[in-house]
Amino acid sequence: MFEFFCGTSLIHSTRHGTSSQIIEQPKENLFALESIRLLAAATADRPALLSPPITWNRKMNETIADVVVVGLGAFGSATAFQLAKRGLKVIGIDRFAPPHDRGSSHGNTRITRLAAGEGEAYIPFIKRSHEIWRALEAQTGRTLYHRTGGLVIGARDSATHHHAKPDFLQQTIANARQFGIEHEVLTAADMSKRYPQFRLRGDELAYFEPDAGVLIPEACIETQIELARASGASIRFNEPVIDIKEQGDGVIVRTALGKYAAARVVVTAGAWIPGMAGGKMAEHLRVMRQTLHWFATTDPSLYSPARCPIFIWMHGNGDHDYMYGFPMIDGQPGVKVATEQYEAACTPDDFDRHVGADESRAMFDAHVAGRLAAVTSTTVHAAACLYTVSTDSGFVIDRYRDMKNVKVVSACSGHGFKNSAGFGERLALWAAGHDDDTLDRFQVSRLDAYQPGMSSSTSRAS
Ligand SMILES: Cc1cc2nc3c(=O)[nH]c(=O)nc-3n(C[C@H](O)[C@H](O)[C@H](O)COP(=O)(O)OP(=O)(O)OC[C@H]3O[C@@H](n4cnc5c(N)ncnc54)[C@H](O)[C@@H]3O)c2cc1C
Repeated sequence: MFEFFCGTSLIHSTRHGTSSQIIEQPKENLFALESIRLLAAATADRPALLSPPITWNRKMNETIADVVVVGLGAFGSATAFQLAKRGLKVIGIDRFAPPHDRGSSHGNTRITRLAAGEGEAYIPFIKRSHEIWRALEAQTGRTLYHRTGGLVIGARDSATHHHAKPDFLQQTIANARQFGIEHEVLTAADMSKRYPQFRLRGDELAYFEPDAGVLIPEACIETQIELARASGASIRFNEPVIDIKEQGDGVIVRTALGKYAAARVVVTAGAWIPGMAGGKMAEHLRVMRQTLHWFATTDPSLYSPARCPIFIWMHGNGDHDYMYGFPMIDGQPGVKVATEQYEAACTPDDFDRHVGADESRAMFDAHVAGRLAAVTSTTVHAAACLYTVSTDSGFVIDRYRDMKNVKVVSACSGHGFKNSAGFGERLALWAAGHDDDTLDRFQVSRLDAYQPGMSSSTSRAS
């Protein structure tokens, strides 16, 4: 039988940590300064840590921590790391052993770009994420981020529909101007001179951002998990969480192997969230299998990181006239490209992880042929991965099953990774006890304006 938990000692156990632990972010970033101010305020009255990192309550047969993080992929590893480095007692639990290839964070590369056309709400988080990746690189000597520059290419005079924005290209340019992000706007003629890889029609416009580039998702996750562990976090792999319940002022998390009590819980379970959270989350989030393809090239130098930026290319007016791609980073076996599909939903436990030769051929014929110079139809590698897609293509961050001390985070719709380090920091603030309205704009209730179940690429606010 599931036992009840009395939260008094648990809540008391969160009252440690000092504000001096967190004053290490660069001063020029206002967002970072705000984070420091908020966390300092949240932890200022805490006495020094008196107890060992994680405690065991024999009577209740449970392990006690300040925070449990459920799911240690992109967002969970970032949250656990940020909490642990601040001295909080953290238990991070994953059903597999991240980084792994069962969810949304594998495939060797992720695009990062600052002027997110998806919405200005993301930009401070992406900027902060870039600072965190750089700090992690300096601390560990690992490469997490390649600054290759990035292009967003679309038609000059017609719609550039992407991630539920009808004017993604223009929105990107406007956001860059508003946030003072270094960029250039290039004509097709400029592009042809600088980037002979891309065969344009002539009526295109391109946004170029020098700080855009490539993140290595597996390395980012692994690094943050290792550093969380080094700071005292208890990391538990191959242990699916099967139940989360509020008891008194605390929360009980149950797995097949144990019971964990915490003051707050962050659920970052990726594509498993619709099934776990139910309710409006299940109505408004759908899981979509996406495929990634690596094609051979007869001229690898054209796609070297020194010559080729990441690219997002809306090459026609249709919803499907879209691809994105990467330079050949770290000895990648070919040029990696992908598109997106929003028609066929699946579940994370039953999706087909094999990518058929017919799927790679269709990708090549519809998007690559005639557009990427010296890229051939020979597939050298392919992989399937999962998007969790919301009806407006935005993130959903809200209470888990209406529990005030449990936050669920769905980093939706194919643009989450670049945000993950910054959101991890902000979620750590919340889990450390700081309640503010920073994350309220991501609540699921905003999606009441949409018809549940519509695809992200076609959804419109009613
Ligand atoms: C093909 C593809 C391309 C993408 N390209 C980009 C890009 O270029 N740029 C970008 O910014 N973003 C991109 N994204 C999006 C980005 O990768 C995701 O938003 C991000 O990785 C999601 O992170 P997450 O932490 O939510 O999920 P995940 O990293 O999948 O982590 C969820 C974790 O929860 C665990 N879990 C699930 N259920 C349980 C349970 N019951 N108990 C314990 N653990 C559990 C899982 O094992 C998993 O480790 C792409 C996504 C895909 C699929």
